[in-house]
Amino acid sequence: MIIASQKPLQEIKEMVADHERILVLGCGTCVTVCFAGGEKEVGILSTSLRMASKLDGDEKTFDEATVQRQCEWEFLDAVQEEIESHDLVLSMACGIGVQAIVERFPVANVAPALNTAFLGIPEEQGLWTERCAACGECILHRTAGICPIARCAKSLLNGPCGGSQDGKCEIDPEIPCAWQLIYDRLKAQGRLDQLLEIEPPRDWSSSRDGGPRRLVREDLRLESHQHKEET
Ligand code: SF4
Ligand code: SF4
Repeated sequence: MIIASQKPLQEIKEMVADHERILVLGCGTCVTVCFAGGEKEVGILSTSLRMASKLDGDEKTFDEATVQRQCEWEFLDAVQEEIESHDLVLSMACGIGVQAIVERFPVANVAPALNTAFLGIPEEQGLWTERCAACGECILHRTAGICPIARCAKSLLNGPCGGSQDGKCEIDPEIPCAWQLIYDRLKAQGRLDQLLEIEPPRDWSSSRDGGPRRLVREDLRLESHQHKEET
Protein backbone atom coordinates (compact mmCIF):
# COMPACT_ATOMS: atom_id res chain seq x y z
CA MET A 1 0.00 0.00 0.00
CA ILE A 2 0.97 3.64 -0.25
CA ILE A 3 2.57 4.94 2.95
CA ALA A 4 2.25 8.58 3.92
CA SER A 5 2.54 10.78 6.97
CA GLN A 6 1.02 14.08 7.97
CA LYS A 7 2.97 17.26 7.34
CA PRO A 8 3.90 19.33 10.39
CA LEU A 9 0.94 21.37 11.66
CA GLN A 10 2.84 24.62 11.16
CA GLU A 11 3.35 23.83 7.47
CA ILE A 12 -0.35 23.02 7.07
CA LYS A 13 -1.30 26.24 8.86
CA GLU A 14 0.78 28.19 6.36
CA MET A 15 -0.97 26.43 3.45
CA VAL A 16 -4.41 27.36 4.74
CA ALA A 17 -3.45 30.87 5.87
CA ASP A 18 -4.97 32.72 2.90
CA HIS A 19 -8.24 30.75 2.84
CA GLU A 20 -11.49 31.04 4.80
CA ARG A 21 -13.58 27.95 3.98
CA ILE A 22 -11.50 24.82 4.02
CA LEU A 23 -12.61 21.26 3.34
CA VAL A 24 -10.41 18.69 5.05
CA LEU A 25 -10.83 15.65 2.80
CA GLY A 26 -9.71 12.20 3.90
CA CYS A 27 -9.24 8.98 1.98
CA GLY A 28 -10.57 5.65 3.19
CA THR A 29 -7.95 3.36 1.72
CA CYS A 30 -4.12 3.26 2.07
CA VAL A 31 -3.76 6.37 4.21
CA THR A 32 -6.49 5.14 6.54
CA VAL A 33 -4.60 1.89 7.06
CA CYS A 34 -1.35 3.73 7.81
CA PHE A 35 -3.15 6.16 10.15
CA ALA A 36 -2.25 9.25 8.13
CA GLY A 37 -5.39 10.49 6.37
CA GLY A 38 -8.52 8.52 7.24
CA GLU A 39 -11.72 9.76 8.86
CA LYS A 40 -10.15 9.76 12.32
CA GLU A 41 -7.12 11.79 11.21
CA VAL A 42 -9.43 14.20 9.35
CA GLY A 43 -11.24 14.81 12.64
CA ILE A 44 -8.04 15.31 14.61
CA LEU A 45 -6.45 17.66 12.07
CA SER A 46 -9.66 19.67 11.64
CA THR A 47 -9.95 20.12 15.40
CA SER A 48 -6.30 21.20 15.68
CA LEU A 49 -6.73 23.69 12.86
CA ARG A 50 -9.95 25.10 14.35
CA MET A 51 -8.22 25.61 17.69
CA ALA A 52 -5.17 27.17 16.06
CA SER A 53 -7.42 29.42 14.00
CA LYS A 54 -9.32 30.57 17.09
CA LEU A 55 -6.10 31.30 18.93
CA ASP A 56 -5.00 33.42 15.99
CA GLY A 57 -8.32 35.30 16.10
CA ASP A 58 -9.29 33.96 12.66
CA GLU A 59 -12.77 33.13 11.40
CA LYS A 60 -11.81 30.16 9.30
CA THR A 61 -14.22 27.26 8.76
CA PHE A 62 -12.92 23.73 8.59
CA ASP A 63 -15.42 21.18 7.27
CA GLU A 64 -14.74 17.46 7.09
CA ALA A 65 -15.39 14.67 4.61
CA THR A 66 -13.82 11.33 3.75
CA VAL A 67 -14.25 9.37 0.53
CA GLN A 68 -13.45 5.74 -0.04
CA ARG A 69 -10.65 6.50 -2.52
CA GLN A 70 -9.49 9.96 -3.56
CA CYS A 71 -7.53 8.50 -6.47
CA GLU A 72 -10.71 7.57 -8.37
CA TRP A 73 -12.99 10.18 -9.88
CA GLU A 74 -16.19 8.23 -9.23
CA PHE A 75 -15.62 8.56 -5.48
CA LEU A 76 -14.71 12.23 -5.78
CA ASP A 77 -17.95 12.92 -7.66
CA ALA A 78 -19.85 12.04 -4.48
CA VAL A 79 -18.35 15.13 -2.79
CA GLN A 80 -18.38 17.47 -5.79
CA GLU A 81 -20.62 19.99 -4.06
CA GLU A 82 -18.39 20.12 -0.97
CA ILE A 83 -15.26 20.46 -3.08
CA GLU A 84 -16.68 23.26 -5.21
CA SER A 85 -18.18 25.18 -2.29
CA HIS A 86 -14.90 25.54 -0.37
CA ASP A 87 -12.05 27.83 -1.33
CA LEU A 88 -9.43 25.24 -0.38
CA VAL A 89 -9.48 21.45 -0.28
CA LEU A 90 -6.90 20.21 2.20
CA SER A 91 -6.36 16.68 0.93
CA MET A 92 -5.32 13.99 3.38
CA ALA A 93 -4.73 11.48 0.58
CA CYS A 94 -1.47 10.54 -1.11
CA GLY A 95 -0.16 12.68 -3.96
CA ILE A 96 -2.30 10.72 -6.41
CA GLY A 97 -5.47 11.72 -4.57
CA VAL A 98 -4.47 15.39 -4.65
CA GLN A 99 -3.88 15.25 -8.40
CA ALA A 100 -7.10 13.32 -9.02
CA ILE A 101 -9.07 16.19 -7.42
CA VAL A 102 -7.17 18.77 -9.47
CA GLU A 103 -7.91 16.91 -12.71
CA ARG A 104 -11.57 16.25 -11.93
CA PHE A 105 -12.36 19.76 -10.68
CA PRO A 106 -10.29 22.29 -12.65
CA VAL A 107 -11.29 25.23 -10.46
CA ALA A 108 -10.64 23.49 -7.14
CA ASN A 109 -7.77 24.81 -5.09
CA VAL A 110 -6.08 21.80 -3.46
CA ALA A 111 -3.24 21.51 -0.96
CA PRO A 112 -1.57 18.35 0.35
CA ALA A 113 -1.74 17.72 4.09
CA LEU A 114 0.40 14.60 3.78
CA ASN A 115 3.84 13.69 2.56
CA THR A 116 3.63 10.55 0.43
CA ALA A 117 6.57 8.34 1.31
CA PHE A 118 6.66 4.96 -0.44
CA LEU A 119 5.00 1.65 -1.32
CA GLY A 120 5.41 -0.59 1.66
CA ILE A 121 4.02 -2.83 4.35
CA PRO A 122 3.34 -2.49 8.06
CA GLU A 123 6.15 -4.49 9.66
CA GLU A 124 4.93 -3.99 13.20
CA GLN A 125 2.69 -1.56 15.04
CA GLY A 126 3.88 1.92 14.07
CA LEU A 127 6.58 0.74 11.65
CA TRP A 128 6.18 0.71 7.87
CA THR A 129 8.94 -0.25 5.49
CA GLU A 130 9.39 0.10 1.75
CA ARG A 131 8.97 -2.93 -0.47
CA CYS A 132 8.52 -1.72 -4.05
CA ALA A 133 9.75 1.26 -6.06
CA ALA A 134 7.26 0.64 -8.88
CA CYS A 135 10.08 0.11 -11.37
CA GLY A 136 7.80 -1.22 -14.09
CA GLU A 137 9.66 -4.48 -14.68
CA CYS A 138 9.48 -6.83 -11.72
CA ILE A 139 12.36 -9.24 -11.13
CA LEU A 140 11.29 -10.67 -7.78
CA HIS A 141 11.28 -14.22 -9.19
CA ARG A 142 15.05 -13.89 -9.64
CA THR A 143 15.78 -12.36 -6.24
CA ALA A 144 13.97 -14.71 -3.88
CA GLY A 145 11.00 -12.36 -3.65
CA ILE A 146 13.07 -9.56 -2.12
CA CYS A 147 13.33 -6.33 -4.07
CA PRO A 148 16.90 -5.07 -4.56
CA ILE A 149 15.68 -1.90 -6.23
CA ALA A 150 13.59 -0.68 -3.32
CA ARG A 151 15.46 -2.34 -0.48
CA CYS A 152 19.13 -1.96 -1.45
CA ALA A 153 20.28 1.62 -0.89
CA LYS A 154 22.22 1.46 -4.17
CA SER A 155 19.59 -0.56 -6.06
CA LEU A 156 22.28 -3.06 -6.95
CA LEU A 157 21.10 -5.87 -9.21
CA ASN A 158 24.02 -8.29 -9.09
CA GLY A 159 24.95 -8.81 -5.49
CA PRO A 160 26.05 -6.70 -2.54
CA CYS A 161 28.33 -3.70 -2.50
CA GLY A 162 30.54 -5.26 0.16
CA GLY A 163 29.83 -2.60 2.74
CA SER A 164 27.26 -4.39 4.85
CA GLN A 165 28.06 -5.21 8.46
CA ASP A 166 26.34 -7.89 10.53
CA GLY A 167 23.71 -8.18 7.81
CA LYS A 168 22.83 -4.48 7.96
CA CYS A 169 23.09 -1.90 5.19
CA GLU A 170 26.14 0.33 5.32
CA ILE A 171 24.02 3.44 5.08
CA ASP A 172 21.85 2.63 8.11
CA PRO A 173 22.46 0.02 10.82
CA GLU A 174 18.68 -0.20 11.37
CA ILE A 175 18.06 -1.44 7.83
CA PRO A 176 18.86 -4.99 6.71
CA CYS A 177 21.16 -5.37 3.72
CA ALA A 178 18.80 -6.41 0.92
CA TRP A 179 21.44 -8.64 -0.62
CA GLN A 180 22.04 -10.39 2.67
CA LEU A 181 18.30 -11.10 2.82
CA ILE A 182 18.34 -12.36 -0.78
CA TYR A 183 21.34 -14.57 -0.10
CA ASP A 184 19.85 -16.02 3.10
CA ARG A 185 16.56 -16.82 1.44
CA LEU A 186 18.10 -18.36 -1.67
CA LYS A 187 20.36 -20.44 0.56
CA ALA A 188 17.43 -21.65 2.66
CA GLN A 189 15.65 -22.61 -0.56
CA GLY A 190 18.71 -24.39 -1.96
CA ARG A 191 18.77 -21.93 -4.86
CA LEU A 192 22.13 -20.20 -4.41
CA ASP A 193 23.03 -21.07 -8.01
CA GLN A 194 20.52 -18.36 -8.95
CA LEU A 195 23.16 -15.82 -7.88
CA LEU A 196 25.45 -16.99 -10.67
CA GLU A 197 23.02 -15.68 -13.25
CA ILE A 198 24.03 -12.16 -14.22
CA GLU A 199 21.20 -9.66 -14.26
CA PRO A 200 21.65 -7.77 -17.52
CA PRO A 201 21.84 -3.96 -17.65
CA ARG A 202 18.39 -2.67 -17.02
CA ASP A 203 16.18 -0.66 -19.32
CA TRP A 204 15.25 2.12 -16.91
CA SER A 205 12.90 3.69 -19.44
CA SER A 206 10.11 1.62 -17.88
CA SER A 207 10.89 3.07 -14.45
CA ARG A 208 10.27 6.55 -13.09
CA ASP A 209 13.66 7.51 -14.47
CA GLY A 210 12.14 7.06 -17.93
CA GLY A 211 9.55 9.76 -17.35
CA PRO A 212 5.80 9.57 -16.73
CA ARG A 213 4.35 6.13 -17.31
CA ARG A 214 1.12 4.75 -18.70
CA LEU A 215 -0.37 1.32 -18.34
CA VAL A 216 -2.78 0.44 -21.13
CA ARG A 217 -5.08 -2.59 -21.11
CA GLU A 218 -6.58 -2.62 -24.62
CA ASP A 219 -9.09 -5.39 -23.75
CA LEU A 220 -10.56 -3.29 -20.92
CA ARG A 221 -10.61 -0.16 -23.05
CA LEU A 222 -12.41 -2.01 -25.85
CA GLU A 223 -14.99 -3.37 -23.38
CA SER A 224 -15.59 0.10 -22.01
CA HIS A 225 -16.00 1.63 -25.51
CA GLN A 226 -18.40 -1.15 -26.51
CA HIS A 227 -20.42 -0.62 -23.34
CA LYS A 228 -20.63 3.14 -24.05
CA GLU A 229 -21.79 2.51 -27.63
CA GLU A 230 -24.49 0.11 -26.45
CA THR A 231 -25.91 2.51 -23.85
S1 SF4 B 1 11.49 -5.30 -8.94
FE1 SF4 B 1 10.41 -3.40 -9.45
S2 SF4 B 1 8.20 -3.93 -9.49
FE2 SF4 B 1 9.30 -5.61 -8.46
S3 SF4 B 1 9.16 -5.12 -6.28
FE3 SF4 B 1 11.08 -4.23 -7.03
S4 SF4 B 1 10.62 -2.14 -7.63
FE4 SF4 B 1 8.68 -3.24 -7.38
S1 SF4 C 1 25.00 -2.74 2.26
FE1 SF4 C 1 23.59 -4.12 1.15
S2 SF4 C 1 21.64 -2.94 0.99
FE2 SF4 C 1 23.23 -1.49 1.62
S3 SF4 C 1 23.90 -0.60 -0.29
FE3 SF4 C 1 25.31 -2.33 0.11
S4 SF4 C 1 24.36 -4.10 -0.94
FE4 SF4 C 1 22.80 -2.48 -0.84
